[in-house]
Amino acid sequence: MFFLHTRTLRTSLKMYNYRHSSAWPSQAYINGSWCNAKSGKTFNVINPATGEIIATVPDLNATDVQIAINAANIAFQSWKTTTAKERSDLLRNWYNILVKNKDYLAEIVTAEAGKPLQESLGEVSYGNSFVEWFSEEARRNYGEYVPSPIKSKEILMIRQPLGPVGLITPWNFPIAMITRKASAALAAGCTCVIKPAENTPIMALVLAKFTQEAGIPNGVFNVVTASRENTPQIGQLLCESPGIYGISFTGSTEVGKLLYKQCSSTVKRIGLELGGNAPFIVFDNADLDKAVAGAMASKFRNCGQTCVSANRFLIQKQVYSKFIDKLMEAMKKLVMGNGKDCGINLGPLINISQVEKVDRIVNDAKNKGAKILVGGKQAMNYGERFYEPTLITDVKDNMACYTEEIFGPVAVCIGFESEEEGLKIANNTNRGLAGYFYSNDLSQVWRVSKALEVGMVGVNEGIISSTEAAFGGVKESGLGREGSSHGLEDYTEIKYICFGNIQQN
Ligand code: ADP
Repeated sequence: MFFLHTRTLRTSLKMYNYRHSSAWPSQAYINGSWCNAKSGKTFNVINPATGEIIATVPDLNATDVQIAINAANIAFQSWKTTTAKERSDLLRNWYNILVKNKDYLAEIVTAEAGKPLQESLGEVSYGNSFVEWFSEEARRNYGEYVPSPIKSKEILMIRQPLGPVGLITPWNFPIAMITRKASAALAAGCTCVIKPAENTPIMALVLAKFTQEAGIPNGVFNVVTASRENTPQIGQLLCESPGIYGISFTGSTEVGKLLYKQCSSTVKRIGLELGGNAPFIVFDNADLDKAVAGAMASKFRNCGQTCVSANRFLIQKQVYSKFIDKLMEAMKKLVMGNGKDCGINLGPLINISQVEKVDRIVNDAKNKGAKILVGGKQAMNYGERFYEPTLITDVKDNMACYTEEIFGPVAVCIGFESEEEGLKIANNTNRGLAGYFYSNDLSQVWRVSKALEVGMVGVNEGIISSTEAAFGGVKESGLGREGSSHGLEDYTEIKYICFGNIQQN
């Protein structure tokens, strides 16, 4: 329970220096070579905790990215002919290097995404686990033999790699969102062009460096870095290029919808992992201490910047006040600060526009009559990207905090009377990624698990992500599943082969 450190820990802060920053690659990675933008343009990477520039990387445009697409196509011709065992071995090499460098990787997550170091280590271990998992799944990409209804025919279905794919990833899990996609793609026999978020390109480049060390051939894993300004032309190229056979995107619903549209021009396969609006329901019969621990983990991990963060706490009337009191107590124990320092468990938001969005949502609630019991404003004494952990009650359905994904350290509490009412509120959204509830009634557990309109349910649990389980949403939260044994599906085509005219003796 790393959320329950006390403020006194701040007195014994240990400074953490970026020991390896001079070794961070600072060029894009195309066809096994490190390169700059043809235009010579670059952009800066900012540490969100301090505002300092920690790296400068190339700002590629569509012309540069076309070179990466070409490289991925050439590499695909040989990569697709490797055996599953060969790909498995190379992924395993990559995994071993990642594990050996876990502290170095965690340091990067903290530097470019602002996460507390312990959380960064957690993400690195989660991110690495996808490489391990798909190194194993590569060898289980089975086809099917189906009994034929006709004696002279035999039916076989095999799985083949889609082709070169475009992977567009967000900043909130700089390593895991790349490895979850790329290791599945590589395992299936696809090559890839990765466009990491402009806030967190360092991790993508370091991952590329380690694929090189692992012996993954040139052109199989390409990383194209770009500023926010250049990103739309790159997204459009990846979606519309006939040289790209699939897109996998994790990010905002707004951008996901745009990419979905752009993919229609080539009828391209697309996997989308978009925003959520997760309900977190606490029923009268719940164990409140466990519910509060789950709420803290779900809400304040990565400062609330995860798509599966609890967005609305729905509390049944009998336990409403008690739950809120306990949640307030737990929130007071959060220790905010620069994630590289010891004992910190609440870092900054990623950038100023995220701070402005969170502040707009909180002020909207305030102006429409909600009560702010804790926090409610920027925490300027820590830095301009920090926001106070905030608790809002008396929330109505016309408030932005009820309908929008907050992506910040803001807990929104809504009371309800019956299970039916709680479910109605929970499902009253066009999003459906994760949902959580706490209940000790077995029948209720089944009823509510089935009734929640989401792709993933946490029952008496606030942290549900796992490599072994299928990650994905329903409604406008996305298409397809990542991780698990289903994670290869986005990167494979089923080919039906019919053997005819088989002579019977
Ligand atoms: P956020 O607003 O939280 O940064 P986004 O959905 O905008 O979420 O970003 C997720 C990823 O999508 C990032 O890699 C970002 O660069 C990329 N992105 C943003 N706009 C576009 C676009 N128009 N086309 C393709 N990718 C985009």
